[in-house]
Amino acid sequence: MNTYPTSIKQISKEKLQIFWSDGHVSEYELKRLREECPCATCNGEQVLWRHYGPTKPISIITSSMIELRGIQPVGNYAIQLIWNDGHETGIYSWEYLLRLCECEICKINNQGEN
Ligand SMILES: [Zn+2]
Ligand SMILES: [Zn+2]
Repeated sequence: MNTYPTSIKQISKEKLQIFWSDGHVSEYELKRLREECPCATCNGEQVLWRHYGPTKPISIITSSMIELRGIQPVGNYAIQLIWNDGHETGIYSWEYLLRLCECEICKINNQGEN
């Protein structure tokens, strides 16, 4: 995967926008990113992309949990999201973020893989 972000910015209180090197643009709701936090605490052991395990127990999301305090680059392959409740162990790799992207281009590409 050679696609990487050329720009990452928070465009509103609830949304993060990423411009990718291949030209498409992702918008993520912070709530969703928090729900999909890939760290071991939130989602157990790292699972493979195509793992559709048992549904997660209902988690209570408070407003401070989905407010972003900061974004840290991790090497050249990921970002770390730092949330207002202090949670900061989630490392979101480009590949993971692309998986979460729901733009038209990605929808088509993801269908093509199956
Ligand atoms: Zn987490
Ligand atoms: Zn996309």
